[in-house]
Formats: sequence, C-alpha cells, structure tokens
Amino acid sequence: MGELTSAEVRQSFLDFFASRDHTVVPSASLVPHDDPTLLFSNAGMNQFKDVFLGLGSRPYTRAVDTQKCMRVSGKHNDLEDVGRDSTHHTFFEMLGNWSFGDYYKKEAIAWSWELLTEVYGLSEERLWATVFRDELGALETDEEAAGYWRSETGIDPAHILYFGRKDNFWEMADTGPCGPCSEISYDRGPETCECAGDPDHVCQVNGDCGRFVELWNLVFIQYDKDADGNLHPLPAKHVDTGMGFERLVSILQGVNSNYRTDLFMPIIRRVQEMMGHTDEDVEENITAYRVIADHGRAIAFLIGDGVLPGNEGRNYVLRMILRRAARFGRQLGFDRPFLAEVAQVVIETMGPQFPELEARRQFILSTVTQEEERFLHTLDLGLSRLDEVLTEYEAESREVVPGDAAFRLYDTFGLPLEITRDVAQERGLNVDEDGYQAALEEQRERARGAEPSQARDEETLRRYMEILARLQERDLLGADGVGHDPYSVTELETTVVALLRDGELVKSATGGDQVEVVLPVTCFYVESGGQVSDTGFIAAYPPGEDEPIWEIEVQEARQPIPGLIVHVGVVKQGRARTGDAVWAVVNYERRMDIARNHTATHLLHSELRYVLGEHVQQAGSLVTPGRLRFDFTHPAMLTEDELALVTRSVNDAVLANYPVQVVQERYRQAVSEGVIALFGEKYGDDVRVVRVGLPGEPFSQELCGGTHLDETGEIGLFHIISEEGVGAGLRRIEAVTGRVAVDLVERQLSVLQRTAAYLNVASDEVDRKALSLLGELQSARKEIAGLQEKLARREFEAMLDHVQSVAGVSLLSARVTAPSMDMLREMTDWVRDRLGSGVVVLGTVLAGRPALVAAVTPDLVERGLDAGRLVRGLADVVGGGGGGKPTLAQAGGRDPNRLDDALRQAPRMLEDMMAS
Ligand SMILES: [Zn+2]
Ligand SMILES: [Zn+2]
Repeated sequence: MGELTSAEVRQSFLDFFASRDHTVVPSASLVPHDDPTLLFSNAGMNQFKDVFLGLGSRPYTRAVDTQKCMRVSGKHNDLEDVGRDSTHHTFFEMLGNWSFGDYYKKEAIAWSWELLTEVYGLSEERLWATVFRDELGALETDEEAAGYWRSETGIDPAHILYFGRKDNFWEMADTGPCGPCSEISYDRGPETCECAGDPDHVCQVNGDCGRFVELWNLVFIQYDKDADGNLHPLPAKHVDTGMGFERLVSILQGVNSNYRTDLFMPIIRRVQEMMGHTDEDVEENITAYRVIADHGRAIAFLIGDGVLPGNEGRNYVLRMILRRAARFGRQLGFDRPFLAEVAQVVIETMGPQFPELEARRQFILSTVTQEEERFLHTLDLGLSRLDEVLTEYEAESREVVPGDAAFRLYDTFGLPLEITRDVAQERGLNVDEDGYQAALEEQRERARGAEPSQARDEETLRRYMEILARLQERDLLGADGVGHDPYSVTELETTVVALLRDGELVKSATGGDQVEVVLPVTCFYVESGGQVSDTGFIAAYPPGEDEPIWEIEVQEARQPIPGLIVHVGVVKQGRARTGDAVWAVVNYERRMDIARNHTATHLLHSELRYVLGEHVQQAGSLVTPGRLRFDFTHPAMLTEDELALVTRSVNDAVLANYPVQVVQERYRQAVSEGVIALFGEKYGDDVRVVRVGLPGEPFSQELCGGTHLDETGEIGLFHIISEEGVGAGLRRIEAVTGRVAVDLVERQLSVLQRTAAYLNVASDEVDRKALSLLGELQSARKEIAGLQEKLARREFEAMLDHVQSVAGVSLLSARVTAPSMDMLREMTDWVRDRLGSGVVVLGTVLAGRPALVAAVTPDLVERGLDAGRLVRGLADVVGGGGGGKPTLAQAGGRDPNRLDDALRQAPRMLEDMMAS
C-alpha cells in the first residue's frame, strides 16, 4: 500500500469502526458547552462524560469520532515547548472508538490490532502492549486483557508488559468511573533512542526516550470509585479509546516529526513561499516555522468555534496564541499581517473534515487580520521597551526579569507574558512568573476595589432584614416572599402587609409621601436580566365602587434583599394604611411594550446567529418599553446587507406569528436540547426556558426569566435604529418594536413626504433629487471660488502700482478683499513671485475682524528682516496678536477701523527694523 495522506488515515479509522456498527459522531466544539470546569475540549471523552457518569444516554451504544482538542494552560508553561520540539501541540485531534455498555476488552483489543496491522500496515514486530498490574497488590491484575492480547492478536507474547497505577490505571476524577487501561506503543527502532549514551537508561516501553511512542490507549471503564476509595464493579462496562492523530500520521508517513506530515507541511510551505526562503532558511528558523504552523491551526479552529480574541479565559488564550505566532512571523521578516494566509491553508486542508471552517471562512480570516493589525500596532512599542529593560538587566548581570516588570509590559503595551518569556529566553534571561501572576492579581483586586460600591448603607440593609424577619414570623409573605409568578397576570387582589416611609415601618401614609409597599405576593416584574421593572398602581376601593379611597402610583418594584420585594411609589390620594385590602395593577400597555421588546430580543439574537454565525454570543441586554438594546460578540461592523437581512428575518418571524412557549425544565435537560445559556451565568437546577417556533421545532430557545408575548405577531413591527461598536469584538444594536416602531416609521415617512413636497418630486425620488442638488451646489460653489480668485487677481494687478521702495527694499502694503485667510496668504505668494525680492503686507476684514499677513522673501530674511516681528507690530495697532515664521506670519485683531492705519504704518516699521 502506498503512503496514506492524513485525510485517508482519518477516514480509514472512521470507516473501520463504522463497518463494525459504530455511529460516526462529529467532533464536539472546542468550547465545551455544558462543562464550566473545562476551558477547552481536551479529550475525546469530554462529550461523552455524562454517559460515563450515568447522567445521560445516546441513541447508540458504539461510536467513533475524531475530536478537536486544545491543551494550553496558563499555569504550566507548556506553550513554551510548542515549536521547540516536534511533538507538543496546542491544537490536535484525538481519534477514538467507544462502547457504552456494549462490547468490551476482547473486541477493543482485536480491532485495534487489526486496524494497525492490516489497514495501516504497521509491522507486528514493532508493536508493544501494556496491561495493568497493581504495584500495591490491592487491585486485580488485568489478566483478562493480557489473555486477549495473546489469543486475539498476533503480538509477540514477549511484547506484552505489565505496568502499575501511574501508566495503566485511568480515573476520571477522585471519585467516579475508573478502570485499567491497555496501551499500544510503537518502536521506531534502536537508532532513534537519544539516551543511548546514558548508562542508567533502560531502553524500553515507558523508558522515556524517543524510541517507543505511545500510540493508542484503550481504557476499560469497569469500576465506580466511592468517596472512601472503594471500587464497585459497574453494571455496564464501557470502552474509551484515544489515539493521537498527528503522531499516528507521522509514523505512517515515515517522518520523525509531526511537523513533517502533510498536516503541517502545506502551512510551512506557504509561509516559506511568502518569505521566499530556501529549505536551508526554513531549517535555520525551524522554531518560528513550527510555532506558526501549530498556532495557525489553533487560531483557525478556535475562531471557527466562536472564540474571539480578548482578555479573559479562552479569549485570552486565543489572543496570546495569535500574538505569539505574529511575533514569530515578525522574527522571520514579515512586516505586515500574514496569519490570515496561514488560516486560509488550514481551512483548505481541514475544511473537508471540519465544515465549520469552510462555513466561517470570511469570519475567521477577518478576525485574524484585525487582531494581528491591532497587535502589530503596539508590538513595536512593547518590544523596544522590552529591549531596553533586557539591556538594562544584562548590564547588571541579572538573570531574572522581575514579575512586575513583565506585567507592566503586558499592562501598558499588551505584550503577553508568553512573548516576554520567549524574547527574554532568547537572551538568556528567565521571567519571574509567580511575580507576574501576583502583579496581575493585585491589579484585578484594585479594579474590583475601584468599582462603584453599591451605595447601600449597612443600616438600610439591616432594616430591610428586620422587616423581612418580622413579616416571615407573622407568616405574612407568600411562599418565598416573591411568591407569585408575575408573568401570567397583570393585576391582583391582595393586602398591604407593610408600608415604609424613609425606610421606617409606618401604619399609614398620606398624599405626596414617598413610600415602599410590601405585598404578600406581587404581579409586578422586578428588574433583572436586563428587563426593567413594571410600573402601575396599588389602590384600595370601597366595596362596589370604582373611585379609590387611596391610591399609590408605583414607579418601580425592587428587591433590596433576597425574599423581600418593595413597590416604590408616591401616595396620590387618600391615606394608605397597612392591612388594607387592595388591588395591585401593572401598567398593562407598558408591560406589553416591554414584552414586545423582550421577545424581539430573542428573535434578534437567533437571527444574528443565523446570519453572522454561531460565534455571536449575547454580551448584554436592556429591555425597556421604549426600545431594546442588545450587545453581542462579533469582530466587524455589520454591513448594510447584513443589517437588512437580520431586520427582514426578524420581521418574517413576526409575520409567521410563531407561538412563544415558556416552560420550567431541569437545567441539564435544557442544555442537552441546545438551549442557549449565558456564559458565566449561574443557573439553578430548575430553569425557565423560553422557546419560539412551531411546537417541537423551536428556532430560538433561551434560559430567561423575563416577560414575553404569547405569539410573535404581537411584536407588530421590528426596526433597527442603530448598530455600533462598543469595545473590541463587541457590537451593539438598538431597535424598536410595536407602537414605538410604528410611530417612528410614521414620523420618518412624514418628514420624507414634506421634503418631497419642498423639492417638488415624488417621495421615492427624494434621494436622487437631493444628490443632484448637492452636485449643483458643489459646482456653484466652485464657480464662486473661481470668480473670487479672478477678482483677487485683478485687484492684485492694480495693487502692484502701489509698490514703494523703503530704504532700497520693495514694499507693498495694501488692503484687499479676500474671502479667507488662505486666500490672503496665497495673494502674498503672487506678490512675492512678482517682486522677486521684497516685503508684502496685506490686510483684509474677515467676519468683521481685521486680518493681516506679512511675507518677507528669503534674501531679506538673511538681511535680518522678520515677517513675525513685523506682523506683531501691526497687530498692536489693530488690538490683537499674531506670529509665524520669518518668511510668513499672520495676525488678527479686534478693531477693523484701525486696519488702514496699521497698513499705513508698515513702511515706518520696516524702516525701523532695517535701522536696528
Ligand atoms: Zn531508549
Ligand atoms: Zn430573555
């Protein structure tokens, strides 16, 4: 068999297990959607964790996949190794086959052997297997696996080795699923051992040299470990295998480095081509080439999975990797952004297996270039500062760059620690990374301290707590104090259980008093999740009458402490009393306006994801009766077309009048159904899910506590009023719906109609008419400017008659008409050109104020004349000031009546100047 391409290696793996009844499962996203403990997917089993924990199930019991993985940790400096050797990577693929309570050791072992030897054609003599034997003697030796190696495969029995807990026992965590594993290693031949000269080195599997490579780990999950460390056999046993794809390809392609496989070579070749490097040049700069190839893959895949460069968490990881690659590019000699070209190669080579790359091509490329440009901008400053720092330390023979110095480089110039470390290392210095972390933490603390503290004094808080305790003691509040679903109703018959004025409990309050009312339950929505509070009124009525005894206008409902809701308002009439039976009524129209904007926000969110891509994530939201505001992640301004498409899609959903369903669900269930939860939000076990769309096929589903419409048609009309950037990679859309949108459209249409009437054209001709008028205006202005210049020229010709000679120097001092200071200056040029040698003083009145320009030809400047000095003297006369160069200066004044006087004095001043 000829040499396999990496795509063929991957496909053979999937096909081999597919033909053995495995379901081919797509790779999960690099961003783990329902595991907040994980920064990135880092193993094939991530997406099946719930199955192993017994929390979830799949419609299949056998699966095969290749999983995208990222391993980067800020703590350990593994990033530093990437590029410096041939095996460490940030991004990699993990091939795996899975059995969920289906087949077990026998099949797993037999198939792995068959695939490696028959499909991939690896030589049997080069393969080794390890099985588990407990060095503590507490757990059973895995003779079962060893037996199958002997009976089901052609392996040399001498190649079956036993190893202990560190190498051959797998645990998911301190408790939970675990079991023995069996590892397959490949012998690259004795000549590949780099430790041959070391007398202590035992050249064998797990011997820590480059000769034996671990290829495939077969994990047999058969126990459940309890908190006391006891192992209980699992009723259903599972198989979880993982094979490093890049390593496998390097063996099958017979190369000694992952970077020499066809997974990396196309990237390296493209960079080489761009740089015009020879193969020797590449070898000389191999670290830079490797870093760019490795990071280029990570960058493309991360952005493809919706990660944007930023300052926290995974966003920071992306920024750091991208900047590190950009810096190595700079080292190669790139002086412009080039990483998009690299990403392009990744998309081309990996796109067929990972369609998300192809689907988000434009997004990936523009994000890369934007971030790279932003970085190159600050990099020069940061690097030259770093250079100064390092030179200083070298002079002092220091070996460590202090942490706070590295942090300042990051804080001021955006120079990531990783780059500081790389550069420092190249010059033989280390960086105090603990010190760096400490400085970073300190700054975070400061930032927290600087946050405006909720000006809520302890005293008030304590009072609310007392009130809550008293109401609870007397059992006056509903179940949880909130006690009521405020979503279904907008009015409610209830009782006043407490009345507060100036934070004190009172029995009653009268007209004009600002009060807080506590009810046992409420139908008012309390501000949260970006939706503003309801307003309305609370009133007491005599039996059978419409006119209230007393009424409080409610401006806001809020929750000062958990469990206590107060209605803040003003007594409008009568005397409000604790204990009175009342109606609490929400302003219905306003509630509906809010609901329109909230439901529309969900539609907007879902259409943005549809039009722009899945990387769009909600970053903030404000829902008021007047408008909605939605902040989201996206790296570029929306084009007119994109905005139009989003608007139309939302309005299509409005017109389709989809039902809006609100249900309570278990959190896990909701997430497994693809409901959008906000990243970083904490949710309880039971969550409220808002779904929009036909039953069973919702196109929008979000965890949300807000008030919504029953059907999207109630939105009426959706209209975007603005789109703008509000931070790196963050956009903001403001929009209106319902009555406000209709008002807006009416108002703008009537402006349009009036304008059309003024212009005497039809409404849809207004833009063309306006353009043509603007064109006319522009050419008329040009014509006027031309005429003015002609006039000035004519005046100038006449002026030349007034040139006088002062002590042998030609001087023209005259009053002219000029439309601007520029024109005035230009006229002095004409005079100078004509005179050859001489002094010009021109004056005019601009906007009611005198203006003067003086010019002196260079030959006279050499003789000590100075236009600045001259103009200052003239400015004195007109009551102003001025200055400029010796050849050209200008001045302004206050009194236009003194202008002629000033011009008359010019010859005398010139004479004085020549005499001095
Ligand atoms: Zn060795
Ligand atoms: Zn919502």
